[in-house]
Amino acid sequence: MKARADFARVSGRLDLVAPAKLNLGLRVVGRRADGYHLIESLFVPLDLVDELRVEVTPADQPTVRLKSSVAADALGVPAALPPGAENLAQRAAEGFLRAAGLSWSVSLELLKRIPVAAGLGGGSSDAGAVLRALDALAPGALSRRRLAALGLSLGADVPFFLSPSPALVEGVGERVTPIGGLPPLCLVLANPGQGLSTARVFAAFSSHRDALTRAGSGSTLRSLSDWLAEDPGDSEGRARRLAELLENDLEEAARRLCPEIGQIQACLAEMGAQAVGMSGSGATSFGVFSTPSEAKSAIRNMTLRGDGWARLAGTSPAR
Ligand code: ATP
Repeated sequence: MKARADFARVSGRLDLVAPAKLNLGLRVVGRRADGYHLIESLFVPLDLVDELRVEVTPADQPTVRLKSSVAADALGVPAALPPGAENLAQRAAEGFLRAAGLSWSVSLELLKRIPVAAGLGGGSSDAGAVLRALDALAPGALSRRRLAALGLSLGADVPFFLSPSPALVEGVGERVTPIGGLPPLCLVLANPGQGLSTARVFAAFSSHRDALTRAGSGSTLRSLSDWLAEDPGDSEGRARRLAELLENDLEEAARRLCPEIGQIQACLAEMGAQAVGMSGSGATSFGVFSTPSEAKSAIRNMTLRGDGWARLAGTSPAR
């Protein structure tokens, strides 16, 4: 590990994107003694991104300032984001400076586009992007292991966002295994306009399930390899396999808290989605479409109530 004196005089600026994630299926396969649930899920980054500028200068005291604004094309983002240390981006920067013993002034500018409390990992992604930026500006100040531990202490999804590319995520989120060979997917994301707290959904899940483990360990990988091995010419078979992969154990609980999820999913299927799923703990559902024009036509024809929204997204890795 590099000594902190090596970075005492560093100044620099980095612009980067923080992609949303989609869960292609989520199985709850156990529970730790401390109450945290063990999951198995295929995480993929989307081309729906927050934009972040990170600027550092030497200072007498470590300080972090965050300025956030909402992108003009954002849907599902409230006008006011959590300020100061309530914001995961700020907490990530403060945690990094503390762990690395750096006396820097860090300025963060966040342009928010990822819908909030929507199961798309926006806050965790911002935190991951801040850690990536500071790690690039102070290479070696924290070892991979300490960076991963810091990420996990900020949130279960943050380890994935330290290197956001398609991955099988296990444990509470700390075991991240990159997966190659995933075909790009054309998606419609749709949300009833209601934020769902992950903690509430897990609580609703626990209160209704006595037997936690429905899936055998490795079931996500098996469904994925079955799906990838399927003859690409057979679209019906592909859709069937994809539906197996997209099974989300939290969906029942999320639907109980927010019945509109069921209506939105029925609407996506009616609009011709090959397969329909829910991301994370909801309330965002998604439909997989064959072409962008089919997806766009689905968005035009969907009936959404109140603050409900639908938007196009792709799984191509964010730059
Ligand atoms: P999870 O990662 O738990 O699945 P999510 O993706 O559903 O969460 P987020 O958009 O990360 O939801 O927001 C979850 C909570 O985190 C919200 O209540 C929000 O106020 C808070 N939060 C803190 N920092 C941020 C941030 N940078 N961007 C968005 N939300 C944030």
